[in-house]
Amino acid sequence: MSLAPQHPRVGLGWDRHAVAAGRPCTLAGIPLQCSVGPVGHSDGDVLLHALTDALLGAAGLDDLGTLFPNDDPQWSGAASSDFVVHAMKLLQQENLRPLSADLVVICEQPRIGQHRAQMRNRLAELLELPLDRVNLKGKSTEGGSEAAASAIEVQAVVLLGALG
Ligand code: MG
Repeated sequence: MSLAPQHPRVGLGWDRHAVAAGRPCTLAGIPLQCSVGPVGHSDGDVLLHALTDALLGAAGLDDLGTLFPNDDPQWSGAASSDFVVHAMKLLQQENLRPLSADLVVICEQPRIGQHRAQMRNRLAELLELPLDRVNLKGKSTEGGSEAAASAIEVQAVVLLGALG
């Protein structure tokens, strides 16, 4: 069986970082005012980590941890938007591009709703997509998950198609 290159490919990304008081909180490349922020070797942008893994996964490429090891000093404090930009270049080499993306952020803090429009805009920019092809929502678990109170978790799904 052969698959034509224009057939779409779906990718799934997931990540979760613990949060700590006083850490900067950058999500989707947007610095947010928040009393807690994700712990991480890079800037801890858990949202862009999940997104990068979804992009790489859909393209059949190595994952984020393999490409950007978290024990490599080169990536200490790195802007996670650089990971997305790098993944987009790899996709281009494979003659692929994103067609759409949808993400869920699960946490108690920060409240995603008030930042959603800004984060969505930045994601659309990074993915080189119109706004209506990128979506994002925040879910607090209303006390139903201890993990959501002590961490930020993100699930990302992307669809890729052929470039041009
Ligand atoms: Mg991560």
